[in-house]
Amino acid sequence: MYLSKYFLPALKEAPREAEIISHQLMLRAGMIKQQSVGIYSWLPLGLKVMRKVENIIREEQNRAGAVELLMPSLQSADLWHESKRYDDYGKEMIRIYDRYGREILLGPTNEEMVTDIFRSYVHSYKDLPLNLYHMQWKFRDEVRPRFGVMRGREFRMKDAYSFDFDEASSRTSYYRMFTSYLRIFDRLGIKTIPIRAHTGPIGGDLSHEFLICADTGESKIFCDKDYLSLLVPGAEVDYSDDLLMADIFNQWNQLYARTHDLHDEALWSQLNPKNQLNIKGIEVGHIFHFGTKYSKPMGAEVMGPDGKKRPVFMGSYGIGTSRLVAALIEACHDKKGIIWPESVAPFDLALINLRVGDKGIDATCSDLYTKLLNAGFDLFYDDIDRHAGEKFALADLIGLPWQMIIGPRLFSNDEAEIKNRSTGEREILSLEAALNKLFTLKKGESFVI
Ligand code: ATP
Ligand code: MG
Repeated sequence: MYLSKYFLPALKEAPREAEIISHQLMLRAGMIKQQSVGIYSWLPLGLKVMRKVENIIREEQNRAGAVELLMPSLQSADLWHESKRYDDYGKEMIRIYDRYGREILLGPTNEEMVTDIFRSYVHSYKDLPLNLYHMQWKFRDEVRPRFGVMRGREFRMKDAYSFDFDEASSRTSYYRMFTSYLRIFDRLGIKTIPIRAHTGPIGGDLSHEFLICADTGESKIFCDKDYLSLLVPGAEVDYSDDLLMADIFNQWNQLYARTHDLHDEALWSQLNPKNQLNIKGIEVGHIFHFGTKYSKPMGAEVMGPDGKKRPVFMGSYGIGTSRLVAALIEACHDKKGIIWPESVAPFDLALINLRVGDKGIDATCSDLYTKLLNAGFDLFYDDIDRHAGEKFALADLIGLPWQMIIGPRLFSNDEAEIKNRSTGEREILSLEAALNKLFTLKKGESFVI
């Protein structure tokens, strides 16, 4: 992408209302624009990151056997009357009337609708287990929308829903999603701790929150330090192995990990003080096992091998994908700007031309651009004629993993500078060696997601 042809409305200063660093950086890097309280446009750079995040989630949910569909964001209130949640949900639900005076609402979550889809088509235990998910805008009229997209009134969520014939297999479905979440956050390149949680208005008997470790998080975490070194299952993990799923779940639930609301001082004090880790976190995911809470009142039943009908067992599994983008920035930044994990960086590399207008340098940059593009790089080419300091500041601000800098001094020796954004390491190499280094990185561990 040539910067001169892109739309990147970066700001020198963050507007004063932005309190936390991710909000400031998202505004400065031209990723989002506020349209009204808690409601944002996603500008091209922000959208690109959110798409990358969602694609990783999609790949991992598919790998775990979930199937994607798309439900609407406008929902009829009738379904919510059936589950009795229409009145319970309170002011967070945005309620409207259509031209015929019928009650409709902007979906804050989709348990009712997915249960309706299920009951319309699935009637036999032979078609189970089933897991359906979608990625969709959600609406909650939060009392205090704040911190940019961290707590919005319109936000993106990936929500999955599992359906099983009995309690035991329903728990295995929960373990499967739990394992998939471990893999998702690992691929996103951040430490996330799963913590037993209250089930809240969704209901049920088993629930975990997934929290990203970040100093600005709203939740206090008390956990055993050994959590940070637990092994995340690899891509080859066999999701059809029920015992393995239970094993992984148990391994990740042996150590002490609580948020402040469930914290138990007596249990905590039994932990070796060296292992007591007291940190802050941001909730990015929340999963629930709630059995027949929705299927019973809504009549979502399946026929068992004995010919008897029973309500299906369910769970739901959310990840706030728009919040996740902000949370990643909270966990990965420095004074100069964002430092994207490679798996979600909006571009792989910033190619920086320090002397736009110089025929030789312009031609070389175009040539490098084509070669890198052909090698599979997603490139950001700063081809705008302005001061070098501004170019470096922009490249650091938007946090691409690598920079390749072509300036007049090095160019006269056929050389370029390569900079790694996260370590700050710089290296001067011949143009050919610089290209080879980048090609090797692409083939090797880095850049591979
Ligand atoms: P919170 O406790 O932060 O209010 P929640 O428990 O109400 O969140 P869930 O119903 O569990 O949220 O939704 C699943 C995920 O959706 C959350 O883990 C979070 O990542 C995201 N999420 C929830 N509310 C918002 C919001 N207002 N803005 C952005 N993301 C949100
Ligand atoms: Mg929650």
